[in-house]
Order: sequence, then structure tokens, then C-alpha cells
Amino acid sequence: MGQVVTVVGGGLAGSECALQLARRGLGVRLCEQRPAKASPAHHGALLAELVCSNSLKSTKPDSAAGLLKWELGLMGSELLEVARTCAVPAGGALAVDRDRFSAAVTERVESSPLIEVVREEVTSIPEGPCVIAAGPLCSDALFSAIAERVGGERMSFYDAAAPIVDADSLDRSVVFEQSRYGGEGAGDYLNCPMGREEYDAFMEALLSAERVIARDFEQADLFCACQPVEEVARTGHDSLRFGAMKPVGLVDPRTGRRPWAAVQLRAESASRAAYNLVGFQTNLTWPEQRRVFRMIPGLGEAEFLRYGVMHRNSFVDTPHTLDATFAIPGTRARLAGQITGTEGYVEAIASGLLAALNMAAELAGCEPVRLPATGALGSLVAYATDPQTTGYQPMHVNFGLFPPLENPPRNKAERRAALAERGRADLAAYVGSRPDLFAGAAR
Ligand SMILES: Cc1cc2nc3c(=O)[nH]c(=O)nc-3n(C[C@H](O)[C@H](O)[C@H](O)COP(=O)(O)OP(=O)(O)OC[C@H]3O[C@@H](n4cnc5c(N)ncnc54)[C@H](O)[C@@H]3O)c2cc1C
Repeated sequence: MGQVVTVVGGGLAGSECALQLARRGLGVRLCEQRPAKASPAHHGALLAELVCSNSLKSTKPDSAAGLLKWELGLMGSELLEVARTCAVPAGGALAVDRDRFSAAVTERVESSPLIEVVREEVTSIPEGPCVIAAGPLCSDALFSAIAERVGGERMSFYDAAAPIVDADSLDRSVVFEQSRYGGEGAGDYLNCPMGREEYDAFMEALLSAERVIARDFEQADLFCACQPVEEVARTGHDSLRFGAMKPVGLVDPRTGRRPWAAVQLRAESASRAAYNLVGFQTNLTWPEQRRVFRMIPGLGEAEFLRYGVMHRNSFVDTPHTLDATFAIPGTRARLAGQITGTEGYVEAIASGLLAALNMAAELAGCEPVRLPATGALGSLVAYATDPQTTGYQPMHVNFGLFPPLENPPRNKAERRAALAERGRADLAAYVGSRPDLFAGAAR
């Protein structure tokens, strides 16, 4: 065997990365700490375990998640191919039988003659070319080693975030712009007014919704500092009406009266393309967030750019720490997957693929990968590696990250279709221009 690349972490990013490197004739030493050392969210020993939902999101060609899948197909993703063979019915989404998926990925990795799977924890940055894909629950020793290298202030350890919704998906006939008591900054806040019956039904759904099981590791420093919205609701039927959902200082323009309760949405950026649900950090599972929070008036069709999370989430401040290929400057180590702050199963697969391409290019002395920023993955990479990005937070692919169209159609569906079409054309042209990386890639 010639060159050997060490890949740390046999999750989604690490498994994809290992298979892609092997496909390019490189030897791989894939180190996975399970089963000897369990992660707080993983349950078994199989590679590519899906830690929560079994959904890999939309397959619709004009959605950002659907476009990402198309891009992965074009670039020859191994895990996406496996996922399609393990699909279960899920409407316009790709959902998989999680056990079959992980078993099939494990089988594919273990049967590769170029991949050696080593079941051990890695506690320092390996010598030689390596890809660290140890995920949001990276072991403490390795995370400390990375922190030592990039600077501890450039690392995040914990994530308690409220969901973020796409501004275009809000029902503007219901939500209204207003700061409390008509104060400054109207437009930075949108309000979703609730009547009494709507509030009662919402409380019932919130209290009975399925939660991610709080694990010992999460409870200690979390719940006193920042209560999940469903835990606040549990303290009393009106607790939220006197807390995150208080209606004081608001007047619903449709009725001229104060609503019974209100959810406030705060703009995520100056462009107001996305809003977060103020005070709605939550432990609900992602499908339940979609179901329950869509009961909020004005959010019936809400598209979630990011779900609320409350778990340990170790990620580096990529824009200010890694180079444009996600490498730690001055080392032969590249990061991939959620540890770089790109969030979501399919995003992790994509990140693993990209790390393999960049590693293969580096070892072959070729140009690094420069994906067009007009695509789903390219725009996420541009966001994650742009030093101008401030307040870096984990992010899914979404159209809000795409550069605007020159002449955008007014109609939202047409605008998305045009964005997706431009993305597909640009990526196809790029892939065609790099036979050194992609020859015979499409799956
Ligand atoms: C609680 C929770 C729920 C989530 N729910 C969803 C969801 O429903 N949908 C979704 O799209 N995304 C979800 N995510 C995000 C999800 O984790 C990522 O999208 C995805 O799994 C990240 O892939 P990854 O390859 O980066 O990490 P992982 O898939 O977590 O893989 C990392 C691997 O590295 C191993 N490892 C860690 N440290 C070491 C070490 N030092 N040495 C060797 N091996 C090591 C781990 O055991 C693990 O197998 C969730 C995340 C968490 C934490």
C-alpha cells in the first residue's frame, strides 16, 4: 500500500471520506473509538450511525436539501448510494432504515481492501495526512488536542439554540412586525399572535411531544442556565405566557388588541432572510419541532433552516481557524463533518466527501477543490470558510446562503427553481473541468 491517510471517526463524514479515499487508490486507517468507548449519543458499534431521526431530508429538486443530494450523486457519494438502497417510504424525503443503513456502510468499509478499521480512541492529532471527523461529540482528549492547536477560544463546546426559520416561509398575513410598546427596531422582530384556544392546544402538543432523551452528560450545566421551552411549559400552564410567549406591549393589527400569547421571531441577520424563535431552545426531536412549532400561527408552512438543539456540540470556529480546504494551517490535518460546524446528516456526508477530494488533490499535487459558491455545498463551504463570517454557528444548507440571482423571479417557487438550476449547471461545469478529481464519479 502506498500513501496511508488516517481518518478519525467512523461516523457519517469519516465513513464517506474513507470510502472516497480508497476509491482513489489511497490506503486508509479509519480509527473509531466505539464500541470500547461509547459516545453519549451513539448506541452501537456500527459505522455511520444515525444518532437521532432517520430522515435525510427532502429530495425535491428545488429545495436546498434536494439539491445537495443531486450534487452528491454527481460527485459520486458512496453513503448517499447506500442510503438509497435502504430507503423507507417518506413522501418527498429520503428516510432510511437506520440499522440496514449503518450495517451496509460498515460492510462496504470493512470489505474495502484499502481500508483498515482500527477500533481505538485517538487522543492527539495524528502525524501525517489525516482527516479528523470525530463529530459533535468528539472525545475530550482529542478535542483538547485540537483546542491546543487552534486556540481554545476558537472552539465551542455547547449548543443551546432555538430553531431558525426561513423568512420566505412565514405567513405574512398573520405575523406582524412590531417591537414591544412600539419601540425601536420594528422589523427586527416579527410576532406570531396566539388566541387562547390556540395557546391551549399548543401547550398540550408541546408537553406531549417526543424529546431527545436528556443524557447525564447534558443535564449538569445545562438546565439551570438555559431551560428548554418544553421544560418551562412543564412548570405551569401559563409559564410561557409570562415568559418567552408574553404578549405585553404588542397589538395585533388584525384585531387591534393584545393577543393572548405571542411568539417573537428575531432577525438572524441584516438581510432578514431568517428568523429565530426567541426563547425556544428545545430538546424536542427534530420531527416533533417541525410538527409542534408549525402549530404557531404564521408558521404553518415554516421551513426550518436549523432545528433547536440542546446538546454538547463540539465545533471549531472554522472561518477563523481553518483554511479554505478545512485544514488546520501548519499541519497535515483536515477537519470534516459536524466538528467544522456544518450541521446535518447529509451535510456531514458531503463534508467527508469534500475532505477526501481535498486530501487526494493535495497528495497528488493537484489544485485544491473550489466548488462554485452557487451550489448547496459550495455556498455552505463559502459561509464556513469566509473570514468575514461573524458569530459562526452550525448551519444546514439553505437558500439563504446562496448568492442572489441577477434577475430574481418574484415568485418564491420560481426563484428557488432558478437558484437550483444555476447551482446544478455550475457544479456540472466544475466537475467536468476536474477529471483529476471526478473521473467516472457519478452514481
Ligand atoms: C444528539 C444529537 C442529535 C442529532 N440529530 C440529528 C438529526 O435528527 N438529523 C440530522 O441531520 N442531524 C442530527 N444531528 C447532527 C448529527 O450529529 C450530524 O449531522 C452528523 O451525525 C455528524 O456527522 P459526523 O460524521 O460529523 O459525526 P458522527 O456521525 O457523530 O461521527 C463521529 C464519530 O467519531 C467517533 N469519535 C469521536 N471521538 C473519537 C476519537 N477521539 N477517536 C476515535 N473516534 C472518535 C464517534 O464515536 C463517532 O462514531 C444530531 C446530533 C446530535 C449530537
